[in-house]
Amino acid sequence: MLVKLATRNLKLYDNLQAEAGFNFLLRKSGYVKIAKEEDAEVIERETRFLRKQGVEVELMQPEDVGLLFPDINVEAFSAASYFADGGVVFPWPVIWGLAKGCRKLGVRIYDYTPANVVVENRKVKGVKTPEGFHRADYVINAAGAWSNEVSREAGVDLNNRIVREEICVIESLKPYIDPYIIDISRGLYVSQSMRGEIVGGIVGEVNGINMKSSLDFLVRYARSVTQLIPKLRGLSVLRQWAGIYDVSRDNRPVAGFTNVEGFVQLNGFGRQGMSIGVAAGEELAKLLFGKRSLFGD
Ligand SMILES: Cc1cc2nc3c(=O)[nH]c(=O)nc-3n(C[C@H](O)[C@H](O)[C@H](O)COP(=O)(O)OP(=O)(O)OC[C@H]3O[C@@H](n4cnc5c(N)ncnc54)[C@H](O)[C@@H]3O)c2cc1C
Repeated sequence: MLVKLATRNLKLYDNLQAEAGFNFLLRKSGYVKIAKEEDAEVIERETRFLRKQGVEVELMQPEDVGLLFPDINVEAFSAASYFADGGVVFPWPVIWGLAKGCRKLGVRIYDYTPANVVVENRKVKGVKTPEGFHRADYVINAAGAWSNEVSREAGVDLNNRIVREEICVIESLKPYIDPYIIDISRGLYVSQSMRGEIVGGIVGEVNGINMKSSLDFLVRYARSVTQLIPKLRGLSVLRQWAGIYDVSRDNRPVAGFTNVEGFVQLNGFGRQGMSIGVAAGEELAKLLFGKRSLFGD
C-alpha cells in the first residue's frame, strides 16, 4: 500500500503544481540510501522488494555513490541503493500551493483556527471554533501529532506515537549535492536546497509533544555529517528547529471510518507524510464518496 501511495503521490505532485499554478520546488534528482555493513541486509531486502513492485531502485557500490556525489566519504558505508525518480520537495510550498488550488475550487480554509469536534450519541455534529459552530456530516482527523487529542475528544481510541525530529540548515554553497542522501545506520539525512543551503537532520525519536531544539542534536549531527561529508567541516549553522509527527502502531497511515458516525481518521503518517500524504487524501476522498479505495470499500 505504501509503495502505491508513494508512486501516486509523485504523479500528483507533478499534476497539482500545474493545476494550482504553484511551484512546489520539487526536484527529482535522485534518492540515495546508504548503510554500514551491519544494516546492508536491510537495504538489499528493501531493494529486492521494491523492484518486485515495479519501482526502479538499484543497488549500488559505495564507489558508484562517489561518482554521483564525489565529496561523500565512501569509507563511511558499505551498502547503497539509488532511486533516480526520488528527490526533494519543500513542504511549505506544497501546503501553500494546495491551499491556493483548494481556494480556487471554492474551499474555505480557516488558518490558525483551532477546531474541537462535537459528537452527540456517537454521531458527529460538527466542529466548534473560536468563531462559532460549523455543522458537518464528516470531520476528518488530520491533526498529525495532535490526532490522539482530537480522537479523545470524539471518544475514539487512537494510540499513535509522537516523534520529535530536529533539523538544521548550514550556510549556502554553490548547489552541488544533487540527490537526497539518507544513512539508515546513523539515522542521518542531508540534501541541498536550490538556494544552496545544506539541510539535514537526524531521524526522530519518540518524545511526546515537544518542539524545542537542542545543542545535543547539533553536536551529534555535526559529528555524523562531517564523517560522511568531510568537506562540510567548519561551515556555519544558519538555523535549527524541531518538528513533531505521529506514527501509527503498524507504521501505515490510520485512515477510514471509526465507530463514531462521521468521524474519520487520516493520520499516523510518521516520516512519510510528504511522500504519501496527498495520495492518501485522494484515497480517503474515494472512500468517503463510496468508491473503491486502497483504504477499503
Ligand atoms: C524534521 C522533520 C523532517 C521530516 N522529513 C520528512 C521527509 O523527509 N519525508 C516525509 O515524507 N516526511 C517527513 N517528515 C514528516 C512530515 O512532515 C509529516 O509526515 C507530515 O507533516 C504529516 O502531515 P499531517 O498533515 O498528517 O500533519 P501535520 O503536518 O502535523 O499537520 C497537522 C496540522 O493540524 C493542526 N491541528 C492540530 N490540532 C488541531 C485542531 N484541534 N484544530 C485545528 N488544527 C489542528 C496542526 O497545527 C497542524 O498544522 C518530517 C518531519 C519533520 C518534523
